[in-house]
Amino acid sequence: MKIRVLGCYGGQLLGFHLSSFLVNDSILLDAGSPTVTLTLEEQRYIRHVFVSHTHLDHIQDIAFLADNRSLKRMGGANENRCITIHSLQENLDTLKTHFLNNAIWPDFTKIPTVKDPILKLSAIEEMKKVVVDGVSITPIRMNHPVPCTGFLLEQDGKQFIYSADTGITDDLWKVANAQPNLRGIIVDCSFPNAYAELASISGHLTPKQMAHELKKLNKLGSMPIYLFHMKPETLSLMTAEVEAENIPHLRMLTQVDELLL
Ligand SMILES: [Zn+2]
Ligand SMILES: [Zn+2]
Repeated sequence: MKIRVLGCYGGQLLGFHLSSFLVNDSILLDAGSPTVTLTLEEQRYIRHVFVSHTHLDHIQDIAFLADNRSLKRMGGANENRCITIHSLQENLDTLKTHFLNNAIWPDFTKIPTVKDPILKLSAIEEMKKVVVDGVSITPIRMNHPVPCTGFLLEQDGKQFIYSADTGITDDLWKVANAQPNLRGIIVDCSFPNAYAELASISGHLTPKQMAHELKKLNKLGSMPIYLFHMKPETLSLMTAEVEAENIPHLRMLTQVDELLL
């Protein structure tokens, strides 16, 4: 399994992209930034987008991914296949009602035709595995103000976890501890320690809270831990606070990272 980090920040600033991870070229975990980080050719390989939740920083590029393949499709080309959006049913309903609603953006689940649209929606359920393009993906419920799941990925007997946005949780760590060959975890770490209360209210973690959460991981120290969703304007302070926790095999993700499992 190959995981390419397209964006790993919890804010958008010049040079800092929103959360988006490309798995084996065809599966996207969250759609914060694929159209500003991938060529048109690379975007065409994307067949599946797993959406953790409907906050804008995780869905915004669904709009532009769909738009970028629309002209070719409308010209009659058939090699430009559809993208399936996988998320909890309540999130799909939110996308339809508030985003792909012909007011904010055209409803690409009906374009160019209802029968053969550019976007298809597929409901997933908590702890029910789906298999796409050879990768097993299991949604894990997270602690966030809106319905949100992280994802357990598995291919070739190796597992990997993406927490998506989360505050303090037990489910994530229970799933992590049950995996026989877990090769790494991407974990939320959004705000500096001074913003602990904001982190709790908004369903995120500070470096201190993240370090406390990691005590629930039985094999801490024997697998890499990657942090994401840092607020870019606080990055240097957060870097120092993360280093102060002195946790082995842990680092903040960067946008040039490509994880090979
Ligand atoms: Zn969020
Ligand atoms: Zn977010």
